[in-house]
Amino acid sequence: MMLIHCPHCGARDVTEFTYGGAGAARPADPAAADDPQWADYVYMRDNPRGLHDELWQHSAGCRRWIAVRRNTLTHDVIATARPGELPPR
Ligand SMILES: [Zn+2]
Repeated sequence: MMLIHCPHCGARDVTEFTYGGAGAARPADPAAADDPQWADYVYMRDNPRGLHDELWQHSAGCRRWIAVRRNTLTHDVIATARPGELPPR
């Protein structure tokens, strides 16, 4: 069982959450971006080993977005916080 600590609701089972990605950078000038730039933004993601900062939504709870620092090798949740409030690594 994997628990995620929601900063608003407390520890909850992972099944209450929806993965929201890792915050890919949107093209700086969306009107000037070409198809390959949009394809990179929409579909291409890094798949890092180790610590990874992600966004999750507590979709079956308070429905708020939270920041999660997770170890992708062990699935351990290292820290959670409100978006933009994770401490530096
Ligand atoms: Zn919550």
